[in-house]
Amino acid sequence: MNKKYVYMFDQGRGDKRELLGGKGANLAEMTRIGLPVPYGFTISTEACNAYYDAGKTISENIRQQILESLQNLEQQTGKTLGDPENPLLVSVRSGAVHSMPGMMDTVLNLGMNDETVEGMAKLTNNPRFAYDSYRRFIQMFSDVVLKVDGFYFEQLLEEVREEKGYETDPEMTAADWQEVIQGYKELVKKHTKSSFPQDPKEQMFLSVEAVFDSWNNQRAIVYRRLQKIPGHLGTAVNIQSMVFGNMGDDSGTGVAFTRNPSTGEAKLYGEYLINAQGEDVVAGIRTPQPIVTLQNEMPEVYEQFVDTCNLLEKHYQDMQDIEFTVERGQLFILQTRNGKRTAQAAIKVAVDLVEENILSKREALLRVDPDQLNQLLHSRIDDAFVRNPLTKGLPASPGAATGKVVFDADEADRLAKEEKKVILVRPETTPDDIHGIVAAQATVTSRGGMTSHAAVVARGMGKACICGCESVSIDLKEKRFKVGETIVKEGDVITIDGSTGEIFLGEIPMIDPQLSEEFQLLLTWADQERTLGVRANADNPEDAKKAVEFGAGGIGLCRTEHMFMDVARIPIVQQMILADTYEEREVALSKLLPMQQEDFEGIFEAMQGRPVTIRLLDPPLHEFLPDKEELLVDVTKLQMTSPESEELKQKEYLLRKVRQIDEFNPMLGHRGCRLGMTFPEIYEMQAKAIFYAISKMRTKGIDVKPEIMIPLVGHVNELKEMRRLVINAGVQIEQETGEDFDYLVGTMIEVPRAALTADQIAEEADFFSFGTNDLTQSTFGYSRDDAEGKFLQSYIESKVLPENPFAVLDQDGVGKLVETGVKLGRGTKPELKTGICGEHGGEKTSIEFCHEVGLDYVSCSPYRVPLARLAAAQATIKHELRQSVAEFQAQK
Ligand code: ADP
Ligand code: MG
Ligand code: MG
Repeated sequence: MNKKYVYMFDQGRGDKRELLGGKGANLAEMTRIGLPVPYGFTISTEACNAYYDAGKTISENIRQQILESLQNLEQQTGKTLGDPENPLLVSVRSGAVHSMPGMMDTVLNLGMNDETVEGMAKLTNNPRFAYDSYRRFIQMFSDVVLKVDGFYFEQLLEEVREEKGYETDPEMTAADWQEVIQGYKELVKKHTKSSFPQDPKEQMFLSVEAVFDSWNNQRAIVYRRLQKIPGHLGTAVNIQSMVFGNMGDDSGTGVAFTRNPSTGEAKLYGEYLINAQGEDVVAGIRTPQPIVTLQNEMPEVYEQFVDTCNLLEKHYQDMQDIEFTVERGQLFILQTRNGKRTAQAAIKVAVDLVEENILSKREALLRVDPDQLNQLLHSRIDDAFVRNPLTKGLPASPGAATGKVVFDADEADRLAKEEKKVILVRPETTPDDIHGIVAAQATVTSRGGMTSHAAVVARGMGKACICGCESVSIDLKEKRFKVGETIVKEGDVITIDGSTGEIFLGEIPMIDPQLSEEFQLLLTWADQERTLGVRANADNPEDAKKAVEFGAGGIGLCRTEHMFMDVARIPIVQQMILADTYEEREVALSKLLPMQQEDFEGIFEAMQGRPVTIRLLDPPLHEFLPDKEELLVDVTKLQMTSPESEELKQKEYLLRKVRQIDEFNPMLGHRGCRLGMTFPEIYEMQAKAIFYAISKMRTKGIDVKPEIMIPLVGHVNELKEMRRLVINAGVQIEQETGEDFDYLVGTMIEVPRAALTADQIAEEADFFSFGTNDLTQSTFGYSRDDAEGKFLQSYIESKVLPENPFAVLDQDGVGKLVETGVKLGRGTKPELKTGICGEHGGEKTSIEFCHEVGLDYVSCSPYRVPLARLAAAQATIKHELRQSVAEFQAQK
């Protein structure tokens, strides 16, 4: 059987996008439902692939099918391509499966030549229109198909205009256009060494080949890579009979969205031009008019257009982006597609469509891309502002912020305490700078990538951040930075946009983040659907409050080390670490206990009885001590300047200690529960602080059920011992206070051995929380900081890895461990609570995976909670949809 490669518009359907491309499928669909679409046909994406397979030639078979369809089209329209008496003119329009803006420009008025132009002139009784159309065709065809740069044509046109003393094109007469056409033809001859093709069929096939070729032009390849569109899809070509918006004042052309794509407001939004063709509206040569004025200029057309918009919205159940042309008072629809929109509009449109009974709630939930929501949860620069950035770095964490430049974390902290807004600018950041990042409105680093320390921390806190801004050269001594010739000093005000990576001088108008009413409503629908819990990672009462505000059901990870980093506490923490004897350490710990207790009380109070998972101390101890190299420099200096000083002795002592603690491989070293095993008094202090805090909360009538989490367990015996330690501390405080505490003790699963022996570990655990950041490190054997700085980026670019596994859960490897851990753990203890608390807990595909493997909850930064609620609902809905499809197929 002869394979079909070409489809008339009335043979296609809207659901044949793969075959007909997006534009072709929608043209067919609109034809099918009776809308006024100029007749035409679509050459399928399969023809495009056949073209490439045959070494870039259109096979005889496909050529024949195209010619047959052309004959059909000629019958339908009663016109013939190339017939001077009654010429058919067509447009040639590319149309891939996914819309790819700017891949190939459309050719209009194809079929014109020296003879048909005369016929057109006679037929329309409008020679000016005929010659104008012909010169447009030569210009477009030459640019798009013959690859003669449009610039030459513009230039020539301008010369003629000037010579005649005209300001604008409408002043050109028929004779003037004839002169231009003559010039254009000479241009073509000069640049292509042959005459402008006069045979309309040749014109058509050359155009079709040009569209096929454009599938692999540089722009298209880059765009596909960015949008992750596979290269094997190919593009379709649409050949459509022309309608003319440039036939006079009763004609025109325009583009409209059925709703406002920026706010979602249910009001027609668009523009049109009277007496114009095709791209004139977007080309910006003439200023188009807002669509509402069409109501006065052409009331009947307007009414028909509004009806069509409503019909198309109902049909596609979504906001449409529609292209139309009016020829002598008659409306034609040339394109429709689902309109691109901002996050705000996406939410409003989805919610409104439910209220208009066009969508179900579940369908609406699937309409909003969780990734887009980030835009809404950070302040951002007013859209009306005209951007003129000083420079640009990597957009590491979205949101915009204004503040005075500071170069030092302590200074940022100090100024913030005086209620000053600052932006921390550093070559890079380390855990020592956390208090500065917390205090600052935003952070800028000149080194480091999207996953550098500053970026990860800032994203976690929902703070704006720009990383790797290499054009910023920082002079920490002089406290200033330079971008080219511009110098920015400490205290100067800058504004940054973390969503684009742009840095601006001075202050810029902002819009505040807020959950709109529609957003809240959509999220309550999501909560009704989802079975996966959503918690937040929060280390302090402010974050905990934010988490509750954004709808978190609890805290999935409260890291206690951030509490230790506080400037006021660091000396005591250091005292604890440096202690040579148990007694000395006890002294420091007894000072830390009330501080920790207070932290926990603040968090418990903010969470009002919701579950809180508290992780006992995790990082290697050196993170709390001064930098070894800095110490060494200090000591060397002091040895020369004041060899007898007390300060030197102190620093030498510190240096010795730091060297003792120093590890070759801190990520795999003395950290997590290994600290608790060797310094049980540290974990004991933390456990007691938790119990005292529970007791205190009870006096306020707040019932707390904490989940105490032991990090980095690799062997069940570690957990067994640490669990006993926590329980003993509990018993002790229970006796002291005469109370009974209700709490869980569980572990993080973050090394492969823990996942593989989860059946044993579950004997000692009330819950598992998969720490997928560390689990990814330990499964791949990558040290994250080294990987991201050295090779990970190139791995992703060259597709060795499909994604950054620290951002998107590696389901094949790390995911398998998670799945195994859940299965083995539940095998031992069916009621075992399971969750995830890595950064993956806020990423939509990872969230779907968590749902599929049956976790009880995901935990992510407070700012990602709304995203996670929506993604969790989508996971449930998609799962059920897949299930019903499977059941349906089983029945058949
Ligand atoms: P793009 O994908 O860049 O939007 P289109 O194929 O939609 O390109 O063509 C751009 C414009 O050209 C259309 O919006 C329409 O104004 C005009 N156009 C295309 N085909 C026709 C036609 N058959 N009759 C009149 N105008 C057309
Ligand atoms: Mg278009
Ligand atoms: Mg960890």
